[in-house]
Amino acid sequence: MAFRDNAYNPVCRVCERVADQVCPRCNGPLCSDHAPAPNQRCDDCERDYLALVNEDRSLDWSEVAMRWGVGSMCAAFWVLGYACLTKSHVFLALSLLALLSALGGYPLIRCLGPVVERLHSSHRRQLFLRERKLLPP
Ligand SMILES: [Zn+2]
Ligand SMILES: [Zn+2]
Repeated sequence: MAFRDNAYNPVCRVCERVADQVCPRCNGPLCSDHAPAPNQRCDDCERDYLALVNEDRSLDWSEVAMRWGVGSMCAAFWVLGYACLTKSHVFLALSLLALLSALGGYPLIRCLGPVVERLHSSHRRQLFLRERKLLPP
């Protein structure tokens, strides 16, 4: 057993000292100084994660809300115009609905957008922490 330990003498990927730990994701050997904290991975793996996050750019929710509001408002006026032309109560109701969706949708999207995004990013982090990557030979 002792012979085997000597034969396989892993060194830390960062500082080349004797490694007594591994990164849980890529299995890369690390010394106790460079071992990742709980819920963290080695520097290389964290770089992969950062690249993933940057690739998946977050939306500008205030802009999404603004577009929704402006779009619904335009639809409301357009339908209202049509309702006036045709004197249709159905279109009048529709235009009120569009107006409500403009007024309600704007704050709703502004509030819920970032919440949904936070959930998504914490889910992504969980997936990353569960991921196992093999080191290139
Ligand atoms: Zn080290
Ligand atoms: Zn790693």
